[in-house]
Amino acid sequence: MVNIDNYCKVVDELRNKGVKLVAVSKRQPAEKISEFYKLGQRIFGENRAQDLKRRLHELPADIEWHMIGHLQSNKIKYIADFVSLIHSVDSLKLLEMINQEAFNGQRVVDCLLQLHIAAEETKFGMDEAEVKNLLQSSELINMQNIRLRGLMGMATFTDDEIRVGKEFRYLKSLFDDLKKNFIKEQQVFDTLSMGMSDDYKIAIAEGSTMVRIGTLIFGK
Ligand SMILES: *Cc1c(COP(=O)(O)O)cnc(C)c1O
Repeated sequence: MVNIDNYCKVVDELRNKGVKLVAVSKRQPAEKISEFYKLGQRIFGENRAQDLKRRLHELPADIEWHMIGHLQSNKIKYIADFVSLIHSVDSLKLLEMINQEAFNGQRVVDCLLQLHIAAEETKFGMDEAEVKNLLQSSELINMQNIRLRGLMGMATFTDDEIRVGKEFRYLKSLFDDLKKNFIKEQQVFDTLSMGMSDDYKIAIAEGSTMVRIGTLIFGK
């Protein structure tokens, strides 16, 4: 059973703030996705490229599909011709390969750079020095088929709200720094993807523009 009450509450909370909701549908049956679709939800996120590809054929064509999980370079081909936003770019090499696949499909693919902001070792993402290096690299200038739209990050999995708040605040300050000092003025750099079921309220308070919510609305 999907949790319509929670969904409506979240949508209400986001509406006045202009924050977008990515409904994270990983491991959920298509029927549950349809229920949210009927309520007007159009952005869904998956963490595996093959699942995203399968969804495309199961569900209505006007859904925006987001890739939120770690992306292996050999899986880019599954999603390059339809994905709306890739949240999880964590190297220049991956970006180059996305650019190549997007070029082959005559598309421009929007991407976010994933930053490692959590204490856990296991979470993917770049650190501040790596992201600044990437943004200054000469190869980036020639990539006509990707658009860097912002950053994504995941906070530490903990009840310590102060810690989570600090991590999101850091990501927001880095976002502002990059936008001011590393991104060309004419480039659209407008997306800060942070916040999940357990911490989205903190993320919004710290400046998130896009939250990724799964279990709170889909159930476990
Ligand atoms: C699963 C997942 C989410 C959603 O997590 P919930 O706690 O279920 O809301 C968000 N972002 C990423 C990258 C995920 O893999």
